[in-house]
Amino acid sequence: MTFEYAPALESRAIVSIQPKYGHFIGGKFVPGKKHFPTINPATEEILSHVALGAAVDIDKAVLAANKAYTKVWSKLSGKERGKYLYRIARILQERAREFAVLETLDNGKPIRETRDIDIPLVAAHFFYHAGWADKLDYAGLGHSPKPYGVAGQIIPWNFPMLMLAWKVAPALATGNTVVLKPAETTSLTALLFAEVCQQAELPEGVVNIVTGDGSTGATLVNHPGINKIAFTGSTEVGKKIARAIAATEKKATLELGGKGANIVFDDAPVDETVEGIVSGIFFNQGHVCCAGSRLILQESIADEIIEKLKARMAKIRVGDPLDKNTDLGAINSREQLSKIQELAKVGDSEGAERWSPQCNLSEKGYWFAPTIFTGVTQAHRIAQEEIFGPVLSILTFRTPQEAIEKANNTPFGLSAGVWSEKGSRVLWATQQLRAGVIWANTFNKFDPTSPFGGYKESGWGREGGKHGLAAYLKNGKETGGK
Ligand code: NDP
Repeated sequence: MTFEYAPALESRAIVSIQPKYGHFIGGKFVPGKKHFPTINPATEEILSHVALGAAVDIDKAVLAANKAYTKVWSKLSGKERGKYLYRIARILQERAREFAVLETLDNGKPIRETRDIDIPLVAAHFFYHAGWADKLDYAGLGHSPKPYGVAGQIIPWNFPMLMLAWKVAPALATGNTVVLKPAETTSLTALLFAEVCQQAELPEGVVNIVTGDGSTGATLVNHPGINKIAFTGSTEVGKKIARAIAATEKKATLELGGKGANIVFDDAPVDETVEGIVSGIFFNQGHVCCAGSRLILQESIADEIIEKLKARMAKIRVGDPLDKNTDLGAINSREQLSKIQELAKVGDSEGAERWSPQCNLSEKGYWFAPTIFTGVTQAHRIAQEEIFGPVLSILTFRTPQEAIEKANNTPFGLSAGVWSEKGSRVLWATQQLRAGVIWANTFNKFDPTSPFGGYKESGWGREGGKHGLAAYLKNGKETGGK
């Protein structure tokens, strides 16, 4: 006997969204000139209108950040900076539900994830970095390491608040000030974070938020008052940024795309592995740079794993992101949905076999059913390009060496997973894999203490942990960034 789930909707009454937003500069909300709508991708409802930042706004924000850096923030002791970070972390915990609901509305990701993963991790990042602020001299980061000054930070839409925390917390802990540009489709939680900065009485200008599109981001990158760029997003834009700052003294960390290999050996525990495959690719609608989007199965167990995977996928609940039962929410934008649809069609035309469970997708909003492609070869575009959606490409291998060669055969090098009961096999595989983050018998686990970043076209430098602090300090030890 099977039971139907009763709807379990999270109330949206806790959030109060203004019809129009400006920028957050010098500790105050200032009006913008032009605005664009930000929508709920699950319903296409216009949630608000967000300001389109122009050069004059970036100028003001950089000026405010510079003033705050020279007059206040660089003069505070690490202990004092740490107090502000603790305060922000505690406020984020107190307002966690509000942030989770707003993130779900603006991004389309399930409330179960914003409530249990994104926002708790955001608070954890601020707590972690609060602890470091007064210990930088003793952290092995060089003698008395110094901040760069003003950091320009540009973040994507897949984890809006988490990416904000990855950027803002280490910058502030190390004594830098910040101008942040959130992604065009997901600015609302960053603007709510601006309220948290006010509530925490953070000195004005330490954090500035200018909303806008790619042109706003490019203006920030090119502004002469910026000392360091921290970017997360596509490899394409990452390359543009690298070119733009090549002949400058600007420092940079770039967290770019990925095409993570999830390798399953024949001795892997089947049920746990199937769960790991599902969370590897279907977590956050597959909008994850480190997603396990290429499953590489040992041939002898491939049929069994695929059969169990299909049975498990048939139980994935796709639907209203505010429903606490929902596993897979909406695709973040019409553009992203088109990109996923287009690459899935390429998979069909290349001869791979597509399978999705039966899903009742709403007419309104942007949806894509969880999908797998079998019979994928290395030459297929769906084995090489980042789809950034709930689409898994499945390849097989016969020998461990072949698994490694296939896993490494991509322009990216961000993440990988290895499933095996044998510790020696896991260690052997992890040493051969060219990926910045490798999980063993699990996937998509994040922790502020752990450095994150990639090789090859997946980017420069590391964020998180001690490596992430070094990337914001002048004589911080080498992190691979510029
Ligand atoms: P982008 O790289 O374009 O966007 C990331 C951020 O950079 C956004 O804030 C964006 O603004 C901004 N930006 C865009 N152009 C410039 C520029 N020339 N200079 C400075 N900043 C800029 O990613 P998209 O959102 O367009 O997504 C495109 C593809 O990138 C996805 O389909 C996915 O494959 C990949 N992607 C990868 C991510 C990752 O973490 N690896 C994250 C997001 C996307 P705006 O939002 O206004 O465009």
